[in-house]
Amino acid sequence: MEKKKIGIYSYTGCSGEQFVILECGAELFELCDRAEIKSFPMAQSNNEYTTLDIAFLEGSITTKKQKKELAQVRSRSKLLVAMGTCACFGGIQSMRLGEGEWKKRFQKVYGDDGKSFRTMEPFESKPCDAFVKIDYYIPGCPMDKKQFLHSVARMLNGNSPYLYQFPVCAECKWKENDCLLLRGLPCLGPLTRGGCGAACPSYNLPCVGCWGPAEVPNVPSQYELLVEKGYGPQEIQQKFRKFGGAPMVERLKKIMEHME
Ligand code: SF4
Ligand code: SF4
Repeated sequence: MEKKKIGIYSYTGCSGEQFVILECGAELFELCDRAEIKSFPMAQSNNEYTTLDIAFLEGSITTKKQKKELAQVRSRSKLLVAMGTCACFGGIQSMRLGEGEWKKRFQKVYGDDGKSFRTMEPFESKPCDAFVKIDYYIPGCPMDKKQFLHSVARMLNGNSPYLYQFPVCAECKWKENDCLLLRGLPCLGPLTRGGCGAACPSYNLPCVGCWGPAEVPNVPSQYELLVEKGYGPQEIQQKFRKFGGAPMVERLKKIMEHME
Protein backbone atom coordinates (compact mmCIF):
# COMPACT_ATOMS: atom_id res chain seq x y z
CA MET A 1 0.00 0.00 0.00
CA GLU A 2 1.32 3.42 -0.94
CA LYS A 3 2.34 5.44 2.10
CA LYS A 4 0.49 8.68 2.82
CA LYS A 5 2.65 11.79 2.81
CA ILE A 6 2.57 14.01 5.87
CA GLY A 7 4.43 17.18 6.87
CA ILE A 8 4.83 19.18 10.07
CA TYR A 9 5.25 22.97 9.92
CA SER A 10 6.14 25.26 12.79
CA TYR A 11 5.35 28.95 13.21
CA THR A 12 5.31 31.23 16.29
CA GLY A 13 5.15 29.25 19.52
CA CYS A 14 7.25 27.08 21.81
CA SER A 15 7.40 24.04 19.46
CA GLY A 16 5.60 22.03 22.15
CA GLU A 17 3.62 19.99 19.60
CA GLN A 18 6.80 18.81 17.86
CA PHE A 19 8.13 17.74 21.28
CA VAL A 20 4.93 15.78 21.92
CA ILE A 21 5.33 14.00 18.55
CA LEU A 22 9.00 13.23 19.24
CA GLU A 23 7.98 11.87 22.63
CA CYS A 24 5.68 9.32 21.01
CA GLY A 25 8.67 6.93 20.97
CA ALA A 26 7.77 3.47 19.62
CA GLU A 27 4.48 4.78 18.22
CA LEU A 28 6.43 7.28 16.13
CA PHE A 29 8.22 4.36 14.41
CA GLU A 30 4.83 2.75 13.71
CA LEU A 31 3.69 6.05 12.23
CA CYS A 32 6.79 6.06 9.99
CA ASP A 33 5.76 2.58 8.73
CA ARG A 34 2.39 3.96 7.64
CA ALA A 35 3.36 7.43 6.46
CA GLU A 36 6.26 9.21 4.82
CA ILE A 37 7.22 12.23 6.90
CA LYS A 38 8.26 14.88 4.38
CA SER A 39 8.82 17.72 6.84
CA PHE A 40 9.55 17.70 10.58
CA PRO A 41 11.94 20.59 11.40
CA MET A 42 12.78 19.39 14.91
CA ALA A 43 13.62 15.84 13.82
CA GLN A 44 15.16 16.05 10.35
CA SER A 45 17.05 18.46 8.13
CA ASN A 46 16.12 17.19 4.65
CA ASN A 47 12.64 18.70 4.73
CA GLU A 48 10.87 18.66 1.39
CA TYR A 49 8.32 21.10 0.02
CA THR A 50 5.95 18.85 -1.84
CA THR A 51 2.32 17.80 -2.16
CA LEU A 52 0.97 16.21 1.02
CA ASP A 53 -1.98 14.17 2.21
CA ILE A 54 -1.93 15.79 5.65
CA ALA A 55 -0.07 18.91 6.84
CA PHE A 56 0.14 19.57 10.58
CA LEU A 57 0.67 23.15 11.76
CA GLU A 58 1.91 24.41 15.11
CA GLY A 59 2.21 28.03 16.26
CA SER A 60 0.40 31.23 15.34
CA ILE A 61 1.08 33.42 12.31
CA THR A 62 3.12 36.53 13.09
CA THR A 63 5.03 37.59 9.96
CA LYS A 64 4.34 38.10 6.25
CA LYS A 65 6.80 35.30 5.47
CA GLN A 66 4.87 32.84 7.65
CA LYS A 67 1.60 33.95 6.06
CA LYS A 68 2.99 33.26 2.59
CA GLU A 69 4.39 29.86 3.60
CA LEU A 70 1.08 28.91 5.20
CA ALA A 71 -0.79 29.71 1.99
CA GLN A 72 1.68 27.51 0.05
CA VAL A 73 1.25 24.61 2.52
CA ARG A 74 -2.53 24.93 2.14
CA SER A 75 -2.34 24.85 -1.64
CA ARG A 76 -0.35 21.60 -1.72
CA SER A 77 -2.08 19.68 1.12
CA LYS A 78 -5.31 17.69 1.02
CA LEU A 79 -5.90 18.15 4.77
CA LEU A 80 -4.66 20.92 7.01
CA VAL A 81 -4.64 20.25 10.76
CA ALA A 82 -3.91 22.90 13.42
CA MET A 83 -2.19 21.47 16.50
CA GLY A 84 -2.01 23.20 19.89
CA THR A 85 -3.51 26.38 21.30
CA CYS A 86 -1.33 28.81 19.28
CA ALA A 87 -2.20 27.36 15.85
CA CYS A 88 -5.87 26.76 16.82
CA PHE A 89 -6.68 30.00 18.69
CA GLY A 90 -3.60 32.27 18.54
CA GLY A 91 -2.21 31.42 21.98
CA ILE A 92 -1.02 33.84 24.62
CA GLN A 93 0.66 36.03 21.96
CA SER A 94 -2.82 36.85 20.61
CA MET A 95 -4.37 37.66 23.98
CA ARG A 96 -4.82 41.35 23.16
CA LEU A 97 -6.02 40.70 19.63
CA GLY A 98 -7.84 43.65 18.09
CA GLU A 99 -6.95 46.16 20.81
CA GLY A 100 -5.50 48.48 18.18
CA GLU A 101 -2.30 49.29 20.06
CA TRP A 102 -0.27 46.40 18.67
CA LYS A 103 2.48 48.56 17.07
CA LYS A 104 3.07 50.48 20.30
CA ARG A 105 3.25 47.25 22.32
CA PHE A 106 5.67 45.75 19.81
CA GLN A 107 7.98 48.76 19.98
CA LYS A 108 7.83 48.84 23.76
CA VAL A 109 8.92 45.20 24.01
CA TYR A 110 11.58 45.21 21.28
CA GLY A 111 12.83 48.80 21.75
CA ASP A 112 14.60 50.65 18.95
CA ASP A 113 11.14 51.28 17.51
CA GLY A 114 11.18 47.59 16.56
CA LYS A 115 13.57 48.44 13.67
CA SER A 116 15.68 45.26 14.01
CA PHE A 117 12.62 43.15 13.23
CA ARG A 118 11.26 45.23 10.37
CA THR A 119 12.68 42.99 7.63
CA MET A 120 10.56 40.13 9.01
CA GLU A 121 7.45 42.27 8.47
CA PRO A 122 5.74 41.24 11.71
CA PHE A 123 2.08 41.87 12.53
CA GLU A 124 -0.27 41.08 15.37
CA SER A 125 -0.20 37.34 15.95
CA LYS A 126 -3.25 35.40 14.73
CA PRO A 127 -4.36 31.75 14.58
CA CYS A 128 -3.85 29.84 11.32
CA ASP A 129 -7.54 29.98 10.37
CA ALA A 130 -7.35 33.77 10.14
CA PHE A 131 -5.56 33.17 6.79
CA VAL A 132 -6.44 29.72 5.42
CA LYS A 133 -9.15 27.06 5.78
CA ILE A 134 -8.30 24.58 8.53
CA ASP A 135 -9.86 21.13 8.24
CA TYR A 136 -9.33 19.92 11.81
CA TYR A 137 -8.16 21.28 15.17
CA ILE A 138 -6.23 19.27 17.78
CA PRO A 139 -6.00 21.74 20.67
CA GLY A 140 -3.87 21.64 23.83
CA CYS A 141 -0.93 23.39 25.42
CA PRO A 142 0.74 21.26 24.42
CA MET A 143 -1.64 18.82 22.71
CA ASP A 144 -2.23 15.41 24.22
CA LYS A 145 -0.12 12.58 22.77
CA LYS A 146 -3.00 10.07 22.81
CA GLN A 147 -5.34 12.48 21.05
CA PHE A 148 -2.70 13.14 18.39
CA LEU A 149 -1.96 9.46 17.75
CA HIS A 150 -5.65 8.48 17.64
CA SER A 151 -6.33 11.38 15.29
CA VAL A 152 -3.44 10.52 12.94
CA ALA A 153 -4.46 6.84 12.86
CA ARG A 154 -8.02 7.80 11.96
CA MET A 155 -6.99 10.34 9.32
CA LEU A 156 -4.56 7.90 7.67
CA ASN A 157 -7.54 5.55 7.31
CA GLY A 158 -9.69 8.26 5.75
CA ASN A 159 -11.72 9.09 8.88
CA SER A 160 -12.10 12.35 10.79
CA PRO A 161 -9.85 12.76 13.86
CA TYR A 162 -10.64 11.73 17.39
CA LEU A 163 -11.38 14.98 19.24
CA TYR A 164 -12.40 15.48 22.85
CA GLN A 165 -15.75 17.26 23.17
CA PHE A 166 -15.84 17.91 26.94
CA PRO A 167 -14.62 20.85 29.05
CA VAL A 168 -11.95 20.66 31.80
CA CYS A 169 -14.75 20.58 34.41
CA ALA A 170 -15.88 17.15 33.18
CA GLU A 171 -12.41 15.68 33.78
CA CYS A 172 -12.24 17.45 37.13
CA LYS A 173 -15.52 15.80 38.19
CA TRP A 174 -14.34 12.39 36.96
CA LYS A 175 -11.42 12.83 39.36
CA GLU A 176 -13.82 13.80 42.16
CA ASN A 177 -11.93 17.03 42.92
CA ASP A 178 -13.57 19.65 45.11
CA CYS A 179 -14.59 22.59 42.95
CA LEU A 180 -12.28 25.59 43.38
CA LEU A 181 -15.05 28.02 42.39
CA LEU A 182 -16.81 27.15 45.65
CA ARG A 183 -13.71 28.50 47.43
CA GLY A 184 -13.95 31.71 45.40
CA LEU A 185 -10.97 30.88 43.16
CA PRO A 186 -11.29 32.05 39.51
CA CYS A 187 -11.18 28.64 37.80
CA LEU A 188 -11.87 28.70 34.03
CA GLY A 189 -12.59 24.96 33.80
CA PRO A 190 -16.19 25.47 32.57
CA LEU A 191 -15.01 27.54 29.59
CA THR A 192 -11.97 25.47 28.64
CA ARG A 193 -11.55 22.55 26.24
CA GLY A 194 -10.83 19.30 28.06
CA GLY A 195 -7.98 16.86 27.47
CA CYS A 196 -5.35 17.86 30.03
CA GLY A 197 -6.91 15.64 32.71
CA ALA A 198 -7.80 18.73 34.82
CA ALA A 199 -4.07 19.03 35.54
CA CYS A 200 -4.22 22.31 37.49
CA PRO A 201 -7.39 21.93 39.62
CA SER A 202 -6.10 18.49 40.63
CA TYR A 203 -3.29 20.40 42.41
CA ASN A 204 -5.61 23.10 43.80
CA LEU A 205 -4.62 25.58 41.09
CA PRO A 206 -7.38 27.32 39.12
CA CYS A 207 -7.47 26.53 35.40
CA VAL A 208 -6.25 29.53 33.36
CA GLY A 209 -7.69 28.12 30.14
CA CYS A 210 -4.49 27.14 28.31
CA TRP A 211 -6.23 24.51 26.14
CA GLY A 212 -8.37 27.25 24.59
CA PRO A 213 -12.14 27.83 24.62
CA ALA A 214 -14.52 24.87 24.87
CA GLU A 215 -16.83 24.08 21.93
CA VAL A 216 -19.81 25.94 23.40
CA PRO A 217 -18.58 27.91 26.44
CA ASN A 218 -21.22 29.67 28.54
CA VAL A 219 -19.22 32.89 28.82
CA PRO A 220 -21.99 35.15 30.22
CA SER A 221 -22.74 32.72 33.05
CA GLN A 222 -19.06 32.35 34.06
CA TYR A 223 -18.67 36.13 33.82
CA GLU A 224 -21.60 36.71 36.21
CA LEU A 225 -20.32 34.02 38.57
CA LEU A 226 -16.88 35.67 38.83
CA VAL A 227 -18.48 39.10 39.36
CA GLU A 228 -20.47 37.51 42.22
CA LYS A 229 -17.19 36.19 43.66
CA GLY A 230 -15.85 39.76 43.76
CA TYR A 231 -13.70 39.93 40.60
CA GLY A 232 -13.76 43.17 38.59
CA PRO A 233 -14.76 43.30 34.88
CA GLN A 234 -11.24 44.17 33.70
CA GLU A 235 -9.63 41.33 35.64
CA ILE A 236 -12.22 38.87 34.34
CA GLN A 237 -11.73 40.01 30.74
CA GLN A 238 -7.98 39.62 31.04
CA LYS A 239 -8.36 36.09 32.35
CA PHE A 240 -10.83 35.10 29.61
CA ARG A 241 -8.69 36.61 26.86
CA LYS A 242 -5.38 35.07 27.92
CA PHE A 243 -5.91 31.91 25.86
CA GLY A 244 -9.37 32.63 24.42
CA GLY A 245 -8.26 34.06 21.07
CA ALA A 246 -10.56 35.76 18.58
CA PRO A 247 -13.73 33.80 19.51
CA MET A 248 -13.46 34.99 23.13
CA VAL A 249 -12.90 38.62 22.06
CA GLU A 250 -16.16 38.48 20.08
CA ARG A 251 -18.08 36.87 22.95
CA LEU A 252 -16.78 39.42 25.46
CA LYS A 253 -17.75 42.28 23.15
CA LYS A 254 -21.35 41.03 23.17
CA ILE A 255 -21.39 40.74 26.98
CA MET A 256 -20.07 44.29 27.33
CA GLU A 257 -22.67 45.64 24.88
CA HIS A 258 -25.38 43.89 26.88
CA MET A 259 -24.08 45.41 30.13
CA GLU A 260 -24.03 48.99 28.83
S1 SF4 B 1 -12.29 23.26 40.06
FE1 SF4 B 1 -12.43 24.26 38.07
S2 SF4 B 1 -12.33 22.59 36.58
FE2 SF4 B 1 -12.81 21.69 38.59
S3 SF4 B 1 -15.06 21.57 38.61
FE3 SF4 B 1 -14.47 23.50 39.58
S4 SF4 B 1 -14.55 25.01 37.92
FE4 SF4 B 1 -14.50 22.99 36.97
S1 SF4 C 1 -4.66 25.71 32.69
FE1 SF4 C 1 -6.53 24.51 32.48
S2 SF4 C 1 -6.42 23.63 30.43
FE2 SF4 C 1 -4.35 24.31 31.00
S3 SF4 C 1 -3.36 22.49 31.90
FE3 SF4 C 1 -4.26 23.69 33.58
S4 SF4 C 1 -6.29 22.78 33.89
FE4 SF4 C 1 -5.57 22.12 31.88
